[in-house]
Amino acid sequence: MTRAFVNYARTVRAQPVRWHAPETEAEVVAIVRAARRVRVVGAAHSFSAIAAPADGGEALSLDRLAAYAVAPDRASVTVSGGMRLRALLARLAADRLTLPIVGSIAEQAVAGAIATGTHGSSLAHGNLASLVTGLRLVTGTGDVLELGPGDPRLDAARVHLGALGVVTRVTVRCEPAFRLAETIERVPVAEVAEQLAAIARTAEYAKVWWLPHTPDALVYRYARTDAPASRFPTAATRRWLDQHLVHRVAFPALVALHRARAGWIAPLNRLVARTMTAELGTGPAALLLATPVPLAHRETEAAVPLARAGEAFAAVVDLIARGDHRVNFLVEARFVRGDPGWLSPASDGDALQLGAYMAQVRGIDAYFAAFWRAMRALGARPHWGKEMDHAAAELRPLYPRFDDFRALRAELDPRRVFDNAFLARALG
Ligand SMILES: Cc1cc2nc3c(=O)[nH]c(=O)nc-3n(C[C@H](O)[C@H](O)[C@H](O)COP(=O)(O)OP(=O)(O)OC[C@H]3O[C@@H](n4cnc5c(N)ncnc54)[C@H](O)[C@@H]3O)c2cc1C
Repeated sequence: MTRAFVNYARTVRAQPVRWHAPETEAEVVAIVRAARRVRVVGAAHSFSAIAAPADGGEALSLDRLAAYAVAPDRASVTVSGGMRLRALLARLAADRLTLPIVGSIAEQAVAGAIATGTHGSSLAHGNLASLVTGLRLVTGTGDVLELGPGDPRLDAARVHLGALGVVTRVTVRCEPAFRLAETIERVPVAEVAEQLAAIARTAEYAKVWWLPHTPDALVYRYARTDAPASRFPTAATRRWLDQHLVHRVAFPALVALHRARAGWIAPLNRLVARTMTAELGTGPAALLLATPVPLAHRETEAAVPLARAGEAFAAVVDLIARGDHRVNFLVEARFVRGDPGWLSPASDGDALQLGAYMAQVRGIDAYFAAFWRAMRALGARPHWGKEMDHAAAELRPLYPRFDDFRALRAELDPRRVFDNAFLARALG
C-alpha cells in the first residue's frame, strides 16, 4: 500500500491511493489533467486537515521540483513551491540575504506556508504571503497561470488554501541579511491585556508568551543591531541546546508528569516559568525569530483586529483563571500587519494572532472549545493551518472577499480536482 498522509501533530491521517513526486512542471500538468482528486502536500505541518488528500484521492509532493533564483536587484527570490523555508533561508544566508519575516519554525514548504497565512510577529511586516510578488500555478484544468504584481488575482492566491492550483513557483521579497538583539521582559499577566496593543509597537518584532497558571507573561522584543553576534555561547549554540536538551529531553519528561497527574501541571508550569528568561543575545534575524521545533502537540489560533487585542487576551486569561482547564503549554500573542490577501486573517488591517497550545494531556478538546467560544464572541477568524471547525456559513461573513475567492476557485478548478473534506466544509 502507498504511504499514508500523517500531519506533524499526528492528529490527521489519510490514505491517498497514490503519491506523486514530479520533477518538472510538465509532469505536474499531466498529473492534474489525469486526476479525479489530487491534493498537494507541503510539509504536512498544518494542525488542521487542510492538506489531507480526499478519500480515494491522490497526493502530490513538490519535494523534487527544485528552483532557486535571486533577482538581479537582490530584492526578491523565485523558488519552487515545494522548497522548505529552512532550505530557502540557508540558501539566502549563503547569498547574504534573508526574509524580512519568518514564523516560529522553518520546516514548512514555501507554498504550504503561504497557503494558510503563516505569520511571525511584527506590525512592521505582514504574514509570509504578504511577501509574495509573483506566483505560478497549474490550475485545475492543467493550464499554467503566471500571476504577477499587477494581477488582481495575486491577492487571492496569497493565502490560497491549496484550492486554486498547484503552486509550482513563488517569488518572495527578500532583503540583505541583518542581525537582531533579543530582550525579554517579565510583565504581570494581569497587566498584559491593557498594554498589548502598545507592546506590539515597541519593537520591529515583538511577541508575548504566557505559560498558564503562572503570574507573569514574557514580552520578547527583537531590534536590529550592527553589534557583532554574541560570542560563546552563540545564539546558535543556545538554540541548539534548547532544541536538543529542553525540547527533546526535558519537555517530554515534563509532559509525562503532566499526563500522570493533571494536578501537577500548574506547579510545574510555575517552576518552568522561572527558567524561561535566558536571552539569546545577538544573532542572525532568522535564527532569533524562530523557536525550537517542539514535541508533537496541538494548536489552535484566532485572529482579531488589533483594537480588540486586549479583550481577546483577557478572555483567555479569564477562562484559564476560572479553573476548568489545566493547560500545559503556552498562550502566545503575536502581531501581524494588515495585508491585501483575500483570505488572509489580517485582510482587515493589523491583527492580533492569539494561539492556544496544549501537549498530549487530557482536556485539549474542552480547552480549545472554550477558547473558541470566547474568540467567536469577538468575531475572530481562525488560522487556516491550525485546529478549526468553522464551516463556510460562518466564515463567509468574516471575509469580505469570500465569495470572490469561491468564484475564482470555480473558474480555476471547475472540476474540483483539488477538493478535500476540509475545503468542502470551509468553502462550501
Ligand atoms: C511546530 C509548528 C510551528 C508552527 N509555527 C507557526 C507560526 O509560527 N506561525 C504560523 O502562522 N503558523 C505556524 N504553524 C502552522 C504552519 O505554518 C502552517 O500550517 C503551514 O501552512 C504548514 O506548511 P506546510 O508546508 O506543512 O503545508 P501543509 O500543511 O502540507 O499544507 C497546507 C496547505 O497548503 C497546500 N499546499 C502546500 N504546497 C502547495 C503547493 N505547492 N501548491 C498548492 N498548494 C499547496 C496544501 O494543499 C494545504 O492546503 C506551525 C506549525 C507547526 C507544526
